[in-house]
Amino acid sequence: MRITATTTLAVVLGDPVEHSRSPELHNAAFEAAGLDWVYTAVRVGEADVPAALAAMRVLGVAGASVTMPNKAAAALHADRRSPSVEVLGVANCLINRNGLIHADNTDGIGFIQGLFADCGASVDEKSVAIVGAGGAAKAIAHACDLGGSAQVTIINRDRARAEEATLVAPRSGRVGSMSDIGGADLVVNATPVGMLNDTSMPFDPTLIRTDALLVDLIYSPVETVLLASARAQGVVGFNGMSMLIHQAAAQFEAWTGAEAPLIAMRNVFRGET
Ligand code: NAP
Repeated sequence: MRITATTTLAVVLGDPVEHSRSPELHNAAFEAAGLDWVYTAVRVGEADVPAALAAMRVLGVAGASVTMPNKAAAALHADRRSPSVEVLGVANCLINRNGLIHADNTDGIGFIQGLFADCGASVDEKSVAIVGAGGAAKAIAHACDLGGSAQVTIINRDRARAEEATLVAPRSGRVGSMSDIGGADLVVNATPVGMLNDTSMPFDPTLIRTDALLVDLIYSPVETVLLASARAQGVVGFNGMSMLIHQAAAQFEAWTGAEAPLIAMRNVFRGET
């Protein structure tokens, strides 16, 4: 990659941000697509999001990914919001269109497209159980509601938060409990339980029907104890890698207007899946 005076800049805004895999992913995509773009990570706290958006306008930063803790502030301070950002109140993607910052959320579409890439499945007419009621759970619930799911059941230890999450799925959303997992065609772990060195599980995997699909949004480790246990009992299960790649691909396409080079993006994690 050769950076020149005309190279276009994209960034990820987060705090902390040093652990982010997004620079690897997006730079591989730019290179594979033959685009003169470069992507780096900048540490920006929540209070500095308005200044970061002003800097994007002044410096001509073409696009930004947004990560913790800045997703709500990015949605709030952007000049324009996509319909999904209006509903969810959080953005993971900013697009600079002639100095106007547009906020988008690609997590939902990333989940839907990732599921299709993993196993050719769609959420249409599925009964979906989502464990967790945070940002990822809401993005997926909203996408499933729009995508024709028959029922979207939100299961969370804090019931009030689950109730709030159902608001983003007004057609199909309801609050449920762990006993609803057995009725689901698609089960999603949208909690951080099982991440990194955590060997605990967010729910009992034997609750999942053996003809159901499991998606554990965690991708580090590549196989959580939940995913391994579910697979061992015959459930087809996937980790969060496809969602990660496809939400980034949707950002790439929103910024550049070019088709995302999915194979190159997936190759970034070769040996890790
Ligand atoms: P979040 O907004 O902080 O929400 C976390 C949710 O998990 C909350 O509903 C919380 O319950 C629940 N939770 C946390 N600890 C728990 C525990 N010990 N037992 C039971 N429930 C617990 O987080 P998020 O952004 O939605 O992310 C959730 C997970 O998805 C993380 O592992 C994240 O890495 C992953 N993720 C993956 C992708 C991807 O591309 N693969 C994208 C986004 C997120 P309360 O409401 O009761 O606190």
